[in-house]
Amino acid sequence: MHNDSNSNSEPAVAFEAVGKTYEPLGTVALRNASFRVSRGEFVCIIGPSGEGKSTILKIIAGLEHESSGSVRRPQRVSMAFQSGALFPWLTVEENIELGLRPMHLPNKKMTEIVRQQVELLELGGLEKKRPPELSGGQAQRVGIGRALAIDPDVLLLDEPFSALDPKTTAELHDDLIKIWEHTHKTIIMVSHNIEEAVSLADRVLLVREGQVEREYPVALPYPRREQGEAFLHIVQEIRKEFFKDSETQRA
Ligand code: ADP
Repeated sequence: MHNDSNSNSEPAVAFEAVGKTYEPLGTVALRNASFRVSRGEFVCIIGPSGEGKSTILKIIAGLEHESSGSVRRPQRVSMAFQSGALFPWLTVEENIELGLRPMHLPNKKMTEIVRQQVELLELGGLEKKRPPELSGGQAQRVGIGRALAIDPDVLLLDEPFSALDPKTTAELHDDLIKIWEHTHKTIIMVSHNIEEAVSLADRVLLVREGQVEREYPVALPYPRREQGEAFLHIVQEIRKEFFKDSETQRA
């Protein structure tokens, strides 16, 4: 596990009985969501669509506010989206730099941070290219580099690999684990894929009907998919719970 020495005292994120209703239609996205994420932990949130996963990320990011309950938010947070969500008219370097601009850093410092991200994300040689010239995997790496450049306390990832082919996704999984081990960042990622969640996270949260219904710790060494039975056992456990309603209906 990658929790640092502070992990027992202050969680990076904590939700206590959080509810969220979107006005003006009164759509209930969260009913009673409670969970904690320790510093340095990698947590994946999975669940059926429309049940509140993205709302949890948006509340952590401060883009939305809870209607009830309490939330402990990180001070500095950044988010990477599906396919990188890059600005097509900016170069790779400029896209990474974008999040740093409001910080008014000296040019030299900014250039140094961008260089570090290019190295960490293995984007050397692509610095002057623009997003239309990049592969899907490269674009997503730029998106993650941009999110990491501001040195966030928590990195949020909203289905970052769902638009990519399986080979690129597997490569990016390996890259993400390397980045996590290198930076010790707290990572919270929404995924719709159970295998992906079990491949990556310390803990998988199953969200349904606006609540964290179950939590699954995954104490397996990487690469997880090579752990055979142990990996499949956890995937099966989660799958049973994930599809329990549809199984009942079919039975
Ligand atoms: P998930 O990420 O699990 O697919 P969301 O958190 O996106 O779920 O959505 C949960 C519920 O909240 C859904 O019914 C969705 O339609 C609704 N919702 C999400 N965002 C908004 C919004 N900005 N305004 C109104 N309703 C929203």
